[in-house]
Amino acid sequence: MLYLNNKLVSKSKALISVFDHGFLYGDGIYETLRAYNGVVFKLDEHIDRLFRSASMIGLTIPKGPEAIKKTVYTTLRANRQKEAVIRITISRGAGPIGLDPGLCRRPTFVIISNKFKNYPEQYYQKGIKVAIVNTCRNFRGALNPAIKSLNFLNNILAKREAKDKGAYEAIMLNYRGHLAEGTISNIFFVKDNILHTPETGVGILDGITRKSILDIARESGIEINEGRFKKEDLLNSREVFISNTTMEVMPVSHVDGTKIGTKKGNITKLLHKAYKKEVADYVKNH
Ligand code: PLP
Repeated sequence: MLYLNNKLVSKSKALISVFDHGFLYGDGIYETLRAYNGVVFKLDEHIDRLFRSASMIGLTIPKGPEAIKKTVYTTLRANRQKEAVIRITISRGAGPIGLDPGLCRRPTFVIISNKFKNYPEQYYQKGIKVAIVNTCRNFRGALNPAIKSLNFLNNILAKREAKDKGAYEAIMLNYRGHLAEGTISNIFFVKDNILHTPETGVGILDGITRKSILDIARESGIEINEGRFKKEDLLNSREVFISNTTMEVMPVSHVDGTKIGTKKGNITKLLHKAYKKEVADYVKNH
């Protein structure tokens, strides 16, 4: 079952118009959330970001935050899922052909909940390969990556390049050559025992997992450097990992074919363990 506009419907009945501007122009926004043991982790933070994205594209969401939170749980429970990945998608809605958002009367609202499938354990044990790709991250002044937008071609082009290079994730630089982020993840590296990650000003999505990791690092007494970095900084580091809501903390073993450190790094390990503890505490208290 999934939630479409105002009700739960079966997959086969969940149909939207070919005139939907989400389909025609990628005009819309989304969020991906993770449920652990029936509790949606950091639901408030995801809903806040959903509303921020909506405001950045001038979209009025047809429900309030509390109603959306309830609907997320309605969808999760209708599917009897405990471990799930939930996607909230809101598009501009159906309207005549033409770019003017005013042509669309009502946004299309969808919540999909799928059973969470674990990533292969070896990704966490051995680390994954990433490639620094030629496709630049969208320029903030054109399409701000802080908007969690349905318009995903930038990331898809980067992903294609990574795949061609035999890498699992692409790392994009911004138009000035500063490290930005992955196609669906934020990037971190450890050098001289300092945890580095691109500052949001380079043009990235302000990841919810990224923020948790930075908070955990601060509490653990790990020095942090949010700044502007080059590709060489990544290649010369001791540890690299990427983060997002479903991967949590995923170690990187190779950047462009260059081996990073030796095994899964100590700081990466510590942060992932602490992140899992934060999840467990959150689940206990909600
Ligand atoms: N960067 C991009 C481009 C993403 O699409 C995502 C998540 O899908 C992230 C970063 C990580 O964000 P979060 O930690 O909130 O899942």
